[in-house]
Amino acid sequence: MSSMRFLCQHCHQPLKSRQTLDTLSLVPGGPGATQEDGGNSKELAASQGAQASASSSPSEPNSSKSQERVKSFTLLGDCISVKTLDSIQKTCAYIFDALSDLEGVDHPLCEECTHCLLEQLDTQLASAQRDCQTYQRCLEFGGPRSGDESSTLEAQLQDLMAEEDRLVQELEHLGRSQAEVAAHLSSAQAKTAELVQQKKQHLKDFRASQWQQQELLDELSSLDNRLMYAQHQIRQLRTTDIFNATFEISEDGPVGVINSFRLGRLPRIPVGWNEINAAWGQAALLLLALSNAVGLQFQRYHLVACGSRSYLKSRIGEGEELPLASDGRQNVFLNNKFDRAMLAFLDCLQQFQQAARRGGLCVPYEVHTKEGFLGDPADPEGYCSVRTHLNTEEQWTTALRRMLSNLKFCMEWVSERYRPK
Ligand SMILES: [Zn+2]
Repeated sequence: MSSMRFLCQHCHQPLKSRQTLDTLSLVPGGPGATQEDGGNSKELAASQGAQASASSSPSEPNSSKSQERVKSFTLLGDCISVKTLDSIQKTCAYIFDALSDLEGVDHPLCEECTHCLLEQLDTQLASAQRDCQTYQRCLEFGGPRSGDESSTLEAQLQDLMAEEDRLVQELEHLGRSQAEVAAHLSSAQAKTAELVQQKKQHLKDFRASQWQQQELLDELSSLDNRLMYAQHQIRQLRTTDIFNATFEISEDGPVGVINSFRLGRLPRIPVGWNEINAAWGQAALLLLALSNAVGLQFQRYHLVACGSRSYLKSRIGEGEELPLASDGRQNVFLNNKFDRAMLAFLDCLQQFQQAARRGGLCVPYEVHTKEGFLGDPADPEGYCSVRTHLNTEEQWTTALRRMLSNLKFCMEWVSERYRPK
């Protein structure tokens, strides 16, 4: 015995037959039943023709479509040769009725697709209900408004439009202002950069000036110190007697000493001639300084002070030079040059004493230039000659000591008279 199979319209899978379907041909009123079985079969029979599925609800608007789909169903398996076409149509009609009644659709679907279809329909139903509620609310609140309310809303709309225009104009104005402000800002930034550069330059100049000021302050401080030192020196010099500070005349026993050089010699005091010559040089320098201090010019001789090589140069004749120095081997003749030089020195000293005597100078020893004597007023017999010829070392040394004493008095007189006030 063969059976018929149907395909699902959605997934095209064979429909699972239920026991009721599989046994349709066996139950009374099934396809194999007689004309008398089942009310539906009777209706099918009444409708007749190829529209076997027209047994669905007459109110179905697209029943013709369903009928076409019914026609397109594929019958699986071999039909029972013993069944007639009529019985087969009846069986199909029965199946369609069963499916339509069971599922509410007019075409066969499998169980899974049916569930899916139901879920889709539920979703569409819920959406439609929400739309319905929305429309309902719109109808409730969006109904026609009264004339006053409309005019009020119109006025508000006009006001808002005017406000919008005003705001648009203000926005344009603000846009122009923004451009102007941006231009000002750019200009101000450029000015700021320039000022910053100027500030840097000013700071640089300021630091250079500070450095220069510091250097000048240091220099000023140094000058102040030097000035203070110079003023101190000046005060010291004003209280200092240049002759007393430069020349020191003393006595070493019977020998006169000037600036630590002994002038004269004795058999028991053998002074070297170099020392004697140096002492003569100091004496010549002192007498020259004294004459310069009082503005005196010697009449017959130039006094040339050159240390141990000092000499006197005659102003008369060919300007003979008389060395005021000796090596101890002076000529034994009367007019040897060393003796003549010492006489010339006495001549100069006498000139100075005569010039200073008018100023109150008093010397302890008398000077006799022509003879070369220095006499002690307290001892009329005590004349000593500065010559070396025909003279003793004691007499010569004493005469030189007396000459240094007179020079010392002359020096103190000049110091007292010409001391700077
Ligand atoms: Zn399906």
